[in-house]
Amino acid sequence: MREILHIQGGQCGNQIGAKFWEVVCEEHGIDPTGTYQGLSDLQLERINVYYNEASGGRYVPRAVLMDLEPGTMDSVRSGPYGQIFRPDNFVFGQTGAGNNWAKGHYTEGAELIDSVLDVVRKEAESCDCLQGFQVCHSLGGGTGSGMGTLLISKIREEYPDRMMLTFSVFPSPKVSDTVVEPYNATLSVHQLVENADECMVLDNEALYDICFRTLKLITPSFGDLNHLISATMSGITCCLRFPGQLNSDLRKLAVNLIPFPRLHFFMVDEQMINVQNKNSSYFVEWIPNNVKSSVCDIPPTGLKMSSTFIGNSTSIQEMFRRVSEQFTAMFRRKAFLHWYTGEGMDEMEFTEAESNMNDLVSEYQQYQDASAEEEGEYEEDLEEA
Ligand code: GDP
Repeated sequence: MREILHIQGGQCGNQIGAKFWEVVCEEHGIDPTGTYQGLSDLQLERINVYYNEASGGRYVPRAVLMDLEPGTMDSVRSGPYGQIFRPDNFVFGQTGAGNNWAKGHYTEGAELIDSVLDVVRKEAESCDCLQGFQVCHSLGGGTGSGMGTLLISKIREEYPDRMMLTFSVFPSPKVSDTVVEPYNATLSVHQLVENADECMVLDNEALYDICFRTLKLITPSFGDLNHLISATMSGITCCLRFPGQLNSDLRKLAVNLIPFPRLHFFMVDEQMINVQNKNSSYFVEWIPNNVKSSVCDIPPTGLKMSSTFIGNSTSIQEMFRRVSEQFTAMFRRKAFLHWYTGEGMDEMEFTEAESNMNDLVSEYQQYQDASAEEEGEYEEDLEEA
């Protein structure tokens, strides 16, 4: 068995993580007590990827929940599937991170991290052949962002040959009004570039626009955004959870999608055939057939069929540019820095994070230019022929 260990941290991480488990449990026929009530053998064939089997045949999510304050986890516990989690796997503090990455990464979070690692280790040890970890978090706050990336770096240290996948929610002023979010996000990206293998980028700005423009919701709530997120997470993990041939584990997914190791930030979108047809000219020629599809027999609950597109595209640079501009506008004036230096951080780390993210943007741009150039050469070749 190739198990995945799921970790959710902070308010957003716990909210989207709880939704993820509701959706996955429904798809696999697992009820809130962990009892199988499904109808198809396919639902159980790869159930061990995400669940442990407990005594009495109950299925328990292989999930660790962490936060620096108890509130969100209390509501997960009292939510529809709250009783399905292993009670010992809730790890929380009382202080909160106050939207401060430094508190999550260096002070408050650093104090709690060993208790989280103990639970992670216990889960990892009971696996037959752990393939990797998935972490749900936001990058704009303090806990999911600061402590989440601290945990990712500790796990990388302890399990260097296991895959690390993240579901990372990027901040947008359209959804939140905390000014320091671009700082927290940039400091996190700096970490994710080095310590994560695959990042599923969930951009609150794009999600807000889908809710507002496409779904015509006048004032989209987190619940609305999270509904899109849980459908996306279900689609992305479908090939890991059900039998099939393609992208059936985290490493194969990475092999197919990552031509350059730093560029591992994926978009998600729908209707890949449309994308491929409409945009055939945008696919670089030096990676033949870089769109893969996998088919699974179990549709999401309530639907006849669905399709999820995971793309690694240079257009993701637009989002990094947006966050980078917001970062620089504040950092130029050293605005709000005292919240971070007050927790012992050095300004240097900000400078490094800023240039790492700018490098990332340049790298995407460079490959975009290279493919545009090749496109031009290809057309010239055609004309000459
Ligand atoms: P933490 O608890 O310290 O990790 O902080 P939060 O998770 O609240 O981080 C704040 C960021 O997360 C902001 O960018 C919010 O817009 C975003 N956020 C908080 N809750 C949710 C949620 O339920 N869904 C989504 N999509 N974003 C959220």
